[in-house]
Amino acid sequence: MANNHLIPRHRTVPVKVGNVTVGGDYPVVVQSMTNTDTADAVRTAAQCAELFHAGSELVRITVNSLEAAQAVPEVRERLDKMGCNVPLIGDFHFNGHKLLTAVPECAQALAKYRINPGNVGRGKKRDEQFAQMIEFACRYDKPVRIGVNWGSLDQELLARKLDENNQRAQPLELYDVMHAALIESALTSAAKAEEYGLPHDHIILSCKLSEVQGLVRAYRDLASRCDYPLHLGLTEAGMGSKGIVYSTAALAVLLQEGIGDTIRISLTPEPHAKREKEVIVGQEILQALGLRSFTPQVVACPGCGRTSSDYFQHLAEDIQNWLREQMPVWKDKYAGVESMSVAVMGCVVNGPGESKHANIGISLPGSGEVPVAPVYEDGHKTVTLKGDNIAQEFQALVEAYVQR
Ligand code: SF4
Repeated sequence: MANNHLIPRHRTVPVKVGNVTVGGDYPVVVQSMTNTDTADAVRTAAQCAELFHAGSELVRITVNSLEAAQAVPEVRERLDKMGCNVPLIGDFHFNGHKLLTAVPECAQALAKYRINPGNVGRGKKRDEQFAQMIEFACRYDKPVRIGVNWGSLDQELLARKLDENNQRAQPLELYDVMHAALIESALTSAAKAEEYGLPHDHIILSCKLSEVQGLVRAYRDLASRCDYPLHLGLTEAGMGSKGIVYSTAALAVLLQEGIGDTIRISLTPEPHAKREKEVIVGQEILQALGLRSFTPQVVACPGCGRTSSDYFQHLAEDIQNWLREQMPVWKDKYAGVESMSVAVMGCVVNGPGESKHANIGISLPGSGEVPVAPVYEDGHKTVTLKGDNIAQEFQALVEAYVQR
């Protein structure tokens, strides 16, 4: 499944994470993370399955306690029984070396370990504990992500970089020193992992920040200095439109430059909301850039004073949701369906034009227009709908189009 999009990719070495390959010429992978207590294997497996069915190709779970580590094999089993073969990534901080030692079944059940070099210990212990985790990765033939984070930057490394900076004739700004420490933490940790025996093609890197320009700079630097696959994500992007816009602003720049092999959109969910939103946003970023296609896209106008009601906005939303719901079945039955476009337009001004450009489109009547809705397929008007069942009839036409 090689990716043949037109943006030249930054060359990286492909890394196998379970049954998914990250990097090389493979498509940019969308991943997500659960927010359940992993010790609750039932709820965690259920949320992993939800994320997988929404399109998350890798799912990361927190492994922060003995109970969580002990539950990981059960999460894996439950997913397998559901026919859900999504690779699981264990997110370790502070005590990963202890948990992997205490529960080797957890080490085996996971497809990848995320290690944060800022959170593996202090002083001499830091190296020992990092080496222990790498030893498990080698023993079980698992890849790791060296995941550096601005919020948990290795303090000893930073202190050393600050000391070095103070010796300079012209010291750098604090921000620049921190940036250098961030990159150095990722690259030196990866080099150490290789020194401890982990193959080069078992390492993925990330350097996450919560600030757009800093993130772009960090990944450009990483990409220029290594060929490890890069995991992109604006950490702590926030809630609602802010989280979506900031994540998109950062990731779109990098992806457009061919940088990034897997992405995670870190949205703060509304209370009790499902986690799927971040998967959908990740897919839409890749689809908007033309890197991948996941679901037929609805082209819809914003509406204005010419629209007689909000009927067409509802129709556009219903069609988009319905298309998304059909995809699990359609994608196996109809090759290429994910890249089709469906137009739902509010009046005659741009309605016919956009509808002709889409695979199939409908131009609803605006205020004062004759109450008919012409439908266009592959650029030609095929039928005109009218009456109270336009929505259902149009949906049936879309379905028939897909089947053809
Ligand atoms: Fe307004 Fe018509 Fe344009 Fe939609 S297509 S925004 S209804 S003018």
